[in-house]
Amino acid sequence: MGTDELKKYYLALGIDEKVYDFVTETESSLSDRFTAIDKTAELNQIKVIKAMQDAKFAEAHLNGTTGYGYNDIGRDAIEEVYANIFKTEDALVRQQITCGTHALTIALSGNSRPGDEILSPCGKVYDTLEGVIGIRESKGSLAEYGISYRQVDLLSDGEFDFDNIRKNINDKTKLIEIQRSKGYDTRPTLSVAKIAEIIKFIKDIKPDVICMVDNCYGEFVETIEPSEVGADMVVGSLIKNPGGGLAPIGGYICGTKECIENCAIRLTSPGLAKEVGASLGVTRSIAQGIFMAPTVTAAALKGAILAANIYEKLGFKAIPDSCEDRYDIIQAIEFGKPEYIQAFCEGIQAAAPVDSFVTPVPWDMPGYDSQVIMAAGAFVSGASIELSADAPMKAPYAVYFQGGLTYPHAKFGIMMSLQKMMEKNLVLC
Ligand SMILES: *Cc1c(COP(=O)(O)O)cnc(C)c1O
Repeated sequence: MGTDELKKYYLALGIDEKVYDFVTETESSLSDRFTAIDKTAELNQIKVIKAMQDAKFAEAHLNGTTGYGYNDIGRDAIEEVYANIFKTEDALVRQQITCGTHALTIALSGNSRPGDEILSPCGKVYDTLEGVIGIRESKGSLAEYGISYRQVDLLSDGEFDFDNIRKNINDKTKLIEIQRSKGYDTRPTLSVAKIAEIIKFIKDIKPDVICMVDNCYGEFVETIEPSEVGADMVVGSLIKNPGGGLAPIGGYICGTKECIENCAIRLTSPGLAKEVGASLGVTRSIAQGIFMAPTVTAAALKGAILAANIYEKLGFKAIPDSCEDRYDIIQAIEFGKPEYIQAFCEGIQAAAPVDSFVTPVPWDMPGYDSQVIMAAGAFVSGASIELSADAPMKAPYAVYFQGGLTYPHAKFGIMMSLQKMMEKNLVLC
């Protein structure tokens, strides 16, 4: 099939020729970066295969258990695979972990006791964790259990405030919470090299402190993970990068034997720990998902870079910008006006394989102080490794764009977003 035929397909789907040409031309300037991303994906793919082979992952592991789930060999094998990938002593990978916040809650509460203190050396933690820790008053928070919290903000240039971090480490400091991705904040995402630097600094001051990394959105973006540079625990969601779009639910924690035991006890019960937890029929999806995760993450990264380049050329602010190195899969674009984010989200929705015919509208959401608009036509509800976009309806009217199980889908979504903006005379290309 030649390019002309491809173009015809896009035009038949309602893409204007000018939009097609603009996106294609921008894309062709990105081939070196895409090649580098493919190399990372290749390395990570081989790493995952080796991890499965080393765990002697077998057809028999794909079957599930019911009830208590004693001797669930598939579940145990998946946990060995994860431990091999993240190079940790042990892992907890369960569909009983309902989401990323839950996984982080287990890691924090399982590894702290009354009187302990948690320190974040990279500023504000992810929104939902404010309730978990008790920064925002919340029923059942760690604060209610006598666990205190401190944070040291990053300096204005995005660097660690080493002096203040040193001053805030004390006898009570038990656990360090390091958030790899900026999430929906404006600070830079931390590279694994940066995480290595802060872990070393902290462990030189207090060697027995537990360093935990909120690894959400960062898995497989680089060729090493924070657990390879001193993190005692890495934590994330299976409906983001490591689930590869196939895991229908779940979370993971990889780390030292002791940390994981503490987590397992908190997830299930003292005395039961990792021994219970039926996998039902989900093991196959979790296994196939981690197998797919390196290339799925690469697809999402390419989409993010294409979007940054397209919209930067059109005069909007992209964060990260069009040329920056990437350490997570999130792309923010500041549009400045509500009608732009509306059009952007309509385009992403219109390009979806599921629910393409619905129109996203801004809505009140629990926990947000403004209305939020969201676009997602996902196979797994709420999965942000699938192509999705969301934006709070307030200045600076920034849209957060992420995911894409395949690069052609991400590209089509971006084309559609631009198409919707053209149709509303918001941009010219
Ligand atoms: C997604 C995310 C979480 C967890 O969110 P859930 O919606 O509960 O899965 C935590 N931290 C960061 C940085 C995230 O991106």
